[in-house]
Amino acid sequence: MARIINGTEISRTIRAEVAAEVALLRAQGVVPGLAVVLVGNDPASEVYVRSKARACREAGMQDRTLKLPAEVAAEELYGVIDGLNADPEIHGILLQLPLPPHLNPKPFLERINPAKDVDGFHPLNVGRAFIADPRGFVPATPAGIMEILRREEIPTRGRHATIVGRSLIVSKPLMSLLMAPGPDASVTLVHRHTPDIAPHTRMADILIVAVGKPGLITADMVKPGATVIDVGITRVPDPDAPSGYRVAGDVEFEGVSRVAGAITPVPGGVGPMTITMLLRNTVDAARRAHAAETRKRERRAGRG
Ligand code: NAD
Repeated sequence: MARIINGTEISRTIRAEVAAEVALLRAQGVVPGLAVVLVGNDPASEVYVRSKARACREAGMQDRTLKLPAEVAAEELYGVIDGLNADPEIHGILLQLPLPPHLNPKPFLERINPAKDVDGFHPLNVGRAFIADPRGFVPATPAGIMEILRREEIPTRGRHATIVGRSLIVSKPLMSLLMAPGPDASVTLVHRHTPDIAPHTRMADILIVAVGKPGLITADMVKPGATVIDVGITRVPDPDAPSGYRVAGDVEFEGVSRVAGAITPVPGGVGPMTITMLLRNTVDAARRAHAAETRKRERRAGRG
């Protein structure tokens, strides 16, 4: 039977580390601040935004949620982003997606100051992640998956990792992170147009699945002893659950956990890591901003 990786526990450890770093920054007069911009009233987005705000407060950080009506004009949204870019109390800016259909998210994501882009979606940060430049921000979910592998001591060097899915939020940054110097994995990425994904998934020492199709990965598609990371989150109807639904991953857990060496459950695997790594990125942004400010002050003092 596979070892079940406890993402909630790993996440708790990292949040304690983050809170300790926040305390150190606060002692230097810096309170890391995260602003979340929410356009419209998508119920799932509202839930995410509330949990992000709560997590911020629990870590001793400042949170600010800006709610805009669904019919907001593009110019107003640009104005909100510009205001946050210029606000010294805000170190991280997050534009909650999806935006209402009349707004294309791309130009707004590009408007965010890359130094405050803690979601890592600005093209500059996408590029930095690709070239393993530590000045960038890596999106929270792939960063969380790398932390899981590291903290669970799952070897990656020279191992074969197969990623199922090709999204910019999870799969593409994960591909760069896994193949980068350090992790040194060989990576295969498959997606909806790959005629048969099974030969690729069966090669994997580490199989990461980010699709959103419950039951996509079955036991016969997994190499014995492999590590299986299930990123999928899909609501499926469940008459026995009080809410009427439950959350399912992409991996057929019962069968696969009999073959795999280690596996992340859904819920309680990758999910809890996402907000945690967002907090991590925001603290990093605050530390970098503070260091830049200190350097500027020292230069000015040197000239004076
Ligand atoms: P997405 O929803 O943008 O795209 C899905 C991907 O799956 C596409 O790249 C597509 O090519 C691929 N795909 C679809 N059908 C396939 C098939 N039959 N075989 C192989 N590939 C197939 O991707 P996303 O944003 O990475 O989201 C994927 C899943 O991960 C969703 O369920 C989402 O809710 C979940 N997710 C979870 C977290 C978390 O915090 N745990 C974060 C982000 C996304």
